[in-house]
Amino acid sequence: MRVILAEHAGFCFGVKRAINMASETARKAKENVYTYGPIIHNPQVVEKFKKEGVHPVKDIKKIVKGSSIIIRTHGVPPERESEFSKKALKVTDATCPFVKKAQKLAAKLSGEGYQVVILGEADHPEVRGILGYTNNTAIVVGNPKEVRKIKKCAKLGVVVQTTQSMQNFLDTVFALRDKSPEVRVFNTICDATRKRQDSALKLANKVDIMIVVGGKNSANTKHLAELCREKRVPTYHIEGALEIKKSWFKGKKLAGVTAGASTPDWIIKNVIKTITAPDRPHNQGKTGQNKKS
Ligand code: SF4
Repeated sequence: MRVILAEHAGFCFGVKRAINMASETARKAKENVYTYGPIIHNPQVVEKFKKEGVHPVKDIKKIVKGSSIIIRTHGVPPERESEFSKKALKVTDATCPFVKKAQKLAAKLSGEGYQVVILGEADHPEVRGILGYTNNTAIVVGNPKEVRKIKKCAKLGVVVQTTQSMQNFLDTVFALRDKSPEVRVFNTICDATRKRQDSALKLANKVDIMIVVGGKNSANTKHLAELCREKRVPTYHIEGALEIKKSWFKGKKLAGVTAGASTPDWIIKNVIKTITAPDRPHNQGKTGQNKKS
């Protein structure tokens, strides 16, 4: 089996930055260190951090006063930051600068009287954080069909969850055009996401099977898998090499591998090693890897 790794795959700038900040905080901290939710959407990385004394928490009531807390790449709503200061927590803010930009734009638009629309997954922490920056007044839509629930208004401002696909963004903005005489649109999709999506699509066009590696709870990894499936290539979303089944590769010659922005290199390498292992059917003993970002 020949394998091609997508040109852009795996850890993005924001995740690398957050991982470094969390390691540095853990190294220096004399007290307990927590992350508000998992540091990134990758279970293996979360487990590794637990061993270094960094623990994810959902409920800050469970945290001892004065502990260290790390805000992850998705960010948090402002009310959560107030809770952190009330508890005198030492905060390391690892919110990705691209997410911060979306939060600031949403706050500005809301402050200027725009009805803010957030295109994204309503339950995703990044979207909940951005919503908080509009005093919870923004309307969240996931796709063009959901635009129906928005009433006509004087002015609309649109921001996007950083991991949305460009096509969904364009289609949704098009659907919004009749909702207001003034629609201000900010494309807050991050470049890392777009690059991973573009190279995954390019690869899906030329392989017999796509393997998408990343946390099952990772929005950007799920989007990569959806995009590949839209190209009608058999696509499997896995968290690691152990999930790979020989039967997937029966009759296939060329496999494409891509990975979400929260997938570390060592997991990607393990996946490639497993696919190209000599006992795989149709193994031709070759591994072609594109240059990585
Ligand atoms: S995918 Fe983009 S927005 Fe998300 S953490 Fe990475 S660089 Fe930041």
